[in-house]
Amino acid sequence: MTRREFAASPLVAALSNAPGSRLAEPMRWLQLAFVEDDPGRYDMKFWLDYIRRVRAQGVCLSAGGCVAFYPTRIPLHYKSRFMKEGQDPFGELAAECRKMGLAILARVDPHAAHDNVFQAHPDWIARDAEGRPRRHWAMPDYWVTCGLGPYNFEFMREVVREIAERYDIDGIFANRWSGSGMCWCDHCRRNFRAFAGRDLPRTGDRSDPAWTAWREFSNQRLFELWDALDAAVRSVRPQAAFIPNTGGGANAELNMKRAGERAPFLVADRQARYGVQLAWANGKNAREYRAALGGKPVAGIISVGLEAPYRWKDSVQQPAEIQLWAADGMAHGMRPWITKFNAKPLDMRWLRPVEELFAWHARHERYFRNEANLARAAIVYSQQTALRVAADADDFIRGAFHALIEARIPFEMAHDGMLDAEHVRGYRALILPNIAVLSEAQCAQLRAFVEGGGGLVATHETSLYEEGGRRRPDFGLAELFGCSRAGRTIQRQQNAYIDIRDREHPLLEGLRGAGRFIHGVRRVEIEPHSRELPPLTTMPSYPDLPMEEVYVRQPPTNIPAVVCRAYGKGRVVYFPWDIDRTFWEVMCPDHGRLLANAVRWALNEEPVLTVEGPGLVDAAIWRQASSVTVHLVNLTNPYAMKGQIREHIPLPPQRLRLRVARRPRRARWLWTDREAAFQYRDGWLETQTPAIALYEVLALDD
Ligand SMILES: [Zn+2]
Repeated sequence: MTRREFAASPLVAALSNAPGSRLAEPMRWLQLAFVEDDPGRYDMKFWLDYIRRVRAQGVCLSAGGCVAFYPTRIPLHYKSRFMKEGQDPFGELAAECRKMGLAILARVDPHAAHDNVFQAHPDWIARDAEGRPRRHWAMPDYWVTCGLGPYNFEFMREVVREIAERYDIDGIFANRWSGSGMCWCDHCRRNFRAFAGRDLPRTGDRSDPAWTAWREFSNQRLFELWDALDAAVRSVRPQAAFIPNTGGGANAELNMKRAGERAPFLVADRQARYGVQLAWANGKNAREYRAALGGKPVAGIISVGLEAPYRWKDSVQQPAEIQLWAADGMAHGMRPWITKFNAKPLDMRWLRPVEELFAWHARHERYFRNEANLARAAIVYSQQTALRVAADADDFIRGAFHALIEARIPFEMAHDGMLDAEHVRGYRALILPNIAVLSEAQCAQLRAFVEGGGGLVATHETSLYEEGGRRRPDFGLAELFGCSRAGRTIQRQQNAYIDIRDREHPLLEGLRGAGRFIHGVRRVEIEPHSRELPPLTTMPSYPDLPMEEVYVRQPPTNIPAVVCRAYGKGRVVYFPWDIDRTFWEVMCPDHGRLLANAVRWALNEEPVLTVEGPGLVDAAIWRQASSVTVHLVNLTNPYAMKGQIREHIPLPPQRLRLRVARRPRRARWLWTDREAAFQYRDGWLETQTPAIALYEVLALDD
């Protein structure tokens, strides 16, 4: 990207348009969420000292909602039983933090209420499908509140207004603000009927078509609620903001485009790994949020404790795991936010590793003040596809994601609601992992992107459905794909293969020794528009049992397993099957490599970054005001696919080659804290990395 392109990029525009809110300033956050018995029983000095040591610039402190930690005057606002007359635990800690110059978010949690609330306003409580008030699932003394009714619109409006009025804060952060699943209270029934002209479905089953209508309804209510609470905060403190705990990728509850337009900043609340989850998961969070927020800041929550449905909230993760989670977020532009529930820590093992990483981040802060990501490829995610057609949309994304990580191709993510020229200008290739739902307007945007020289890699049912979720007779992008739908979508093909018909094709780079490849599991039957033989063809399923019957009965077919073609000034690769999803499920490296080769071919330029050597590494390139950084996070570990990492196992030195417009004045490795020796010629920098245990950043000063 040239300087001129950079100056005009949407990221920079968003940065310069950011509101005067102080919430955009902190580069490191610490959240201390009180439990009811913290007041008078915890050591405030300990926390103030730790805040200094991690060099936090913002804090998020519990104020009210479910339990008030300040002397509220709102009658139904339950006060901590441990808060003595004249005490103000929130106010005292907030005042100390203010003296230290920190930005302050007051945390509220409205999802549960005490019995006094139920007695006074039974209609504020969530109801099940039978109309019975819902007791709290974990704490039956409490009631679950209705997120879309007067409890939030009226009572919480008073609460956030009171907090903003009485305390010098920069914003309110609301946890669990959006309700706890579908609610059948009178307000929700009536409001849904007015919205959708029908009754609420009887269950929260998302395969029920009425569920989609409910999701639209709840989005509308939640955006109204967001506006109402934001207005309440700003009515007394115009520079402050209401920050809902919300967001995510394809399965996010709220429309991320609209959320990104509203929010001055958001917090990604996926705090750690659980189950089979790759070590790049936090880098995925970062990219998904940024796709919606542009240059506005995203903080990424790092959990002290284990994340599991069993909710060991007083636990501590392995230090190496906490650091890797944090590092992958930082590498992808997240501002680290460590969170601790219960101010009386029972296990201190997390303190030092967090301090080590945060203090290092603070020392090199100017290299984390990113202004533009220099990735040339972006994976598109689509909430409407996940909502209307593919509940497993994220499996396609994760397959594409992992393929690019393995190939060490730096990439971003893009929201399908922002595929206009302005937003995709920095990219040279877009990857559409089964982006099944695309409107005519979105298809036109993609056509324009390719006509202008962009590359497209699309898979499976991409563009086969209209915006509302109705299937088209043919792909919306048939002209780009160079083929049409002809037949059906096979939902499960067993024992099917791919024959190699053009061994010299660039898609076969590194795979030329293969005899054939395994096919995917799902496949759209297509008819190509041209008679040209594709480089890869489909060998349909043949018997897989009894073993005596497992043999090929027919010569190779002409059914394309891929269509690769030029279109306008750009290039298009279309896989009619689920190469990405099958890669995620089966992890056959042939699939990952084919997909990565397709992206390289679609990019049609010398790679902006290559990192050569053994291991699994997540790479990112960023520009700051007067520097460029290359981030390398070492994911090489037997626990890369399922936490928790026990130790960092050093990645051997790697050969690194990077495109930079001119010779840097200075090059440093920030983690090992030493000068980087490099060669520079004709716009290309070459160097060798040190061994990387956890994380390394190459910082190049202009
Ligand atoms: Zn309700």
